[in-house]
Amino acid sequence: MRTARAVVVGGSLAGVTAVDELRRQGWDGAITLVGDEPRAAYARPPLSKGVLKGTEDAASVLLPEIGADGGVEVRTGTRATGLDLDARRVRVEGGEEVPYDKLVIATGARARTLGGPGERVLRTLDDALRLRTEFGRARSLLVIGGGFLGMEIASAAAGLGLEVTVVDLRAPFVSTLGPFLAGLFGRAAHERGVRTVVAADGVTPRPYGAELVDGSRLEADLVVTAVGCRANTEWLEGSGLTVLGGVVVDERCRAAVPDVVAVGDVAAFPTGDGRFRRTPHWDSAIGQARAGVAALLHGDRAQPYTPQPYFWTEAFGLAVKLAGALPAAGEPTVLKGSVAELSALLRWDHPARPVAAALNHRIPVGRLRALAA
Ligand SMILES: Cc1cc2nc3c(=O)[nH]c(=O)nc-3n(C[C@H](O)[C@H](O)[C@H](O)COP(=O)(O)OP(=O)(O)OC[C@H]3O[C@@H](n4cnc5c(N)ncnc54)[C@H](O)[C@@H]3O)c2cc1C
Repeated sequence: MRTARAVVVGGSLAGVTAVDELRRQGWDGAITLVGDEPRAAYARPPLSKGVLKGTEDAASVLLPEIGADGGVEVRTGTRATGLDLDARRVRVEGGEEVPYDKLVIATGARARTLGGPGERVLRTLDDALRLRTEFGRARSLLVIGGGFLGMEIASAAAGLGLEVTVVDLRAPFVSTLGPFLAGLFGRAAHERGVRTVVAADGVTPRPYGAELVDGSRLEADLVVTAVGCRANTEWLEGSGLTVLGGVVVDERCRAAVPDVVAVGDVAAFPTGDGRFRRTPHWDSAIGQARAGVAALLHGDRAQPYTPQPYFWTEAFGLAVKLAGALPAAGEPTVLKGSVAELSALLRWDHPARPVAAALNHRIPVGRLRALAA
């Protein structure tokens, strides 16, 4: 008789966590991990921080290896190209079909691009290593997008002595962090010589720069686009799974057919108002992998995935950890330390959307979450 097999597609954070969770939660069948990247799994957050700055190298970002023991077959450099839900098979490049009894979809996301000539993005370790080298040759950098990623890239480049401009539809960080923290980051960026441009009507990428609607141009030796990410769902076309920006799942990460879950950056959850949203963050990928595996193994008896938003960013000398529903509206209460000294514990007491933030301040994640609860 064939041994039952769990197949995990996507060999990064959510996929590797799902493999660990399958074993931890008692799956004693075979496991196959199919991932298209050629190397072992690595963490992406340091790519826009230590790796770009040159303080971390490729070896330091690797995630703990999946042991070859325990019947886990790891197939790196293998792209999944199709899914047959009736036959319960994943098709991989070359035409081979891998049968599954349980399937975890963890194919994450890739950088959105604007299609400009010479445009760079940052999603993979190779992207980061290449950018790091190019930072060594360039004198100026234009970053299109002033969210977490864009500002971290701008910070690393400014620290290496490049002349940096960030352009966005709004002031950097306003829509993601809220006006108070955006103000702190904005000031810190300007103090380090970074120029921020608000182009409310958008920009058109051009060779070595971008053009604003009024015809004016922003020019730089190097242009990096950091305007969000798109879920990797093309391989699921024609499978019958519902894809609305990501693979649509229920509160237990189940993809509306038996024995299939989607977790991490690829999964889109109901928001309660008829829409679906992905939460492309580190902590969500781990929480969803745990919950998704529990649902695969225990069905309705499994605990639903309860988002407990947690996020961190580092740029321009400010390291902020945040718990709660961002963006944070209005002014915070200072619970400890001092904003003027740029070291503080802050809380926004909004009744529906409380947020807690640790600014250059050490605090366990659990305590920060409790403050935001
Ligand atoms: C530069 C950068 C910095 C970040 N910083 C932070 C941070 O500070 N804090 C934070 O909370 N989050 C941060 N994030 C987000 C965080 O890294 C992601 O949420 C996390 O990586 C999601 O993991 P995932 O496994 O779901 O998806 P991914 O990391 O996207 O992995 C998906 C994997 O599946 C593979 N794949 C795709 N299609 C196929 C296919 N058809 N067949 C086989 N394999 C496939 C991909 O190549 C990839 O290896 C950052 C992300 C980036 C890019």
